Amino acid sequence: MKLEADVIVVGGGPVGLTLACELRLAGLDVLLLERRAERVSNSRGMGMHGRTLEMLGLRGLAPRFRERALPFSIGHFAVLDTRLDFSVLDPQYGVNLVIPQSVTEELLEARAAELGVRVQRGALVRELWQDEEIVSVGGDIDGAAFTARAAWLAGADGGRSLVRQQAGIAFEGHAASVYSMLGDVRLGAPLPGKAHTVVNQAGVLMVVPMGDAYHRIILIDAQRCREPSQQPPTLEELAEGACRVAGYDLQLSDAVWLSRFSDETRLAAQYRKGRVLLAGDAAHIHMPAGGQGMNVGMQDAFNLGWKLAGVVKGEAGAALLDSYDSERRAVGQQLLVNTMAQTALLTACDTRGLALRQLMDGLLRDPATNRALALEVSGFGISYPASLSMAPDGCRVLEQWTGARVPDCPLHLASGAQVQLHTLLHSGRWLYLRLCDDAPAGVCAPGQVQTLRATLREPVSGLAGAAALLVRPDGYADYALA
Ligand SMILES: Cc1cc2nc3c(=O)[nH]c(=O)nc-3n(C[C@H](O)[C@H](O)[C@H](O)COP(=O)(O)OP(=O)(O)OC[C@H]3O[C@@H](n4cnc5c(N)ncnc54)[C@H](O)[C@@H]3O)c2cc1C
Repeated sequence: MKLEADVIVVGGGPVGLTLACELRLAGLDVLLLERRAERVSNSRGMGMHGRTLEMLGLRGLAPRFRERALPFSIGHFAVLDTRLDFSVLDPQYGVNLVIPQSVTEELLEARAAELGVRVQRGALVRELWQDEEIVSVGGDIDGAAFTARAAWLAGADGGRSLVRQQAGIAFEGHAASVYSMLGDVRLGAPLPGKAHTVVNQAGVLMVVPMGDAYHRIILIDAQRCREPSQQPPTLEELAEGACRVAGYDLQLSDAVWLSRFSDETRLAAQYRKGRVLLAGDAAHIHMPAGGQGMNVGMQDAFNLGWKLAGVVKGEAGAALLDSYDSERRAVGQQLLVNTMAQTALLTACDTRGLALRQLMDGLLRDPATNRALALEVSGFGISYPASLSMAPDGCRVLEQWTGARVPDCPLHLASGAQVQLHTLLHSGRWLYLRLCDDAPAGVCAPGQVQTLRATLREPVSGLAGAAALLVRPDGYADYALA
């Protein structure tokens, strides 16, 4: 069988699906190849941060995710007692959704089907080759050989990415040194009161309600966490370690999923090589601390989608893709720093380590420190250093807006309509808002631009008196004009 497309996406996890949707929204013919014949029912990830939800909201999708989730306005850093307060970050999206990753994937796959992404399940990619014009893959679909070719290919095929290996991209970092366990189980004897975590010299125990009769148990067992195990985890092993940390038997039963995970930490040396791009776990892996991997990966996809679509459609030069590497590798690097720091705190179970945790906990009670970490973990703190287009000649740029996230706000359009700014990004196009009559009539950007005359119905910090705002399809300002 021979297949062709504008872009091939390898991997139908949350990142591949998000990217495929973004590319298809821009009108491309997208082929997504996923080796699994069916979606998996268990979920590694349980948390979606506010900035990811907001980016889904940029496409009108946030209500679908909210409907299937439990919202919390707090998160954690290394399970320190003082929690991160997300509520202060944004009135609409200052939340952390508890939503199983399987539900996120289900909703994204439904969206992909609505848009017309060609999702080919049961398609195992085994090899990849590229020249200056085409990238090709070979493998098998349900046992029958196939080849597929496209102008570009994105590897969203997870931490062991075949695409990354075949493209010859190094995956640099640290081998695993900490080994943890999780189980989705019923509890006969819950933790007392509102306590969902216990940290002491025996280790770390987290208990996360899953919205049904089940709880997610996460255990870092101080006695065993330095010993790699090739054995499948057992309920007895989890129950015994949980009992030691909690100080009593939680009566775990009915395990629907048991797994191990480690702190292996690596970053791709480059996110693009020729016609091949990487996103999500294919580009970065780390200890799953603070629930960030899927979130950062989906945000990689929101950064890459419109850029790659612009290049394929001839609206932008291929050099635009270098900004994907520079913008998102920097985020990946910080993600690794953040999760390694959390790993150090989570495994510091001796008396000195617990003293360090106590000290850090005190620092988190300071609202400014709490906010700084909440911004980082939630993704709201991300901004990009440079504009991707040239501001009109003779115009002064408001520096603080370059690369900054644009929050949602109510607008009054010249047509008389009242709209929310984010609804104007549902189409995935650039948005140029002329906020006064003197603003330049139009601007150039690497993609189609929707130009509107609008006034702000509520003040937005730093935008008072601005003449115009150019917003990228992923909701970051390219620049604001004074
Ligand atoms: C215990 C645990 C808890 C976590 N909790 C969270 C959390 O709360 N929040 C969060 O943001 N992140 C969390 N993560 C991380 C999150 O699960 C990953 O970051 C996320 O799954 C990455 O998505 P992805 O699409 O990049 O890769 P994956 O989800 O790994 O998807 C890759 C897909 O590619 C397919 N594939 C692989 N190779 C091939 C091939 N050769 N041919 C065809 N298809 C292929 C696979 O079948 C798979 O479907 C957690 C991780 C763990 C281990």
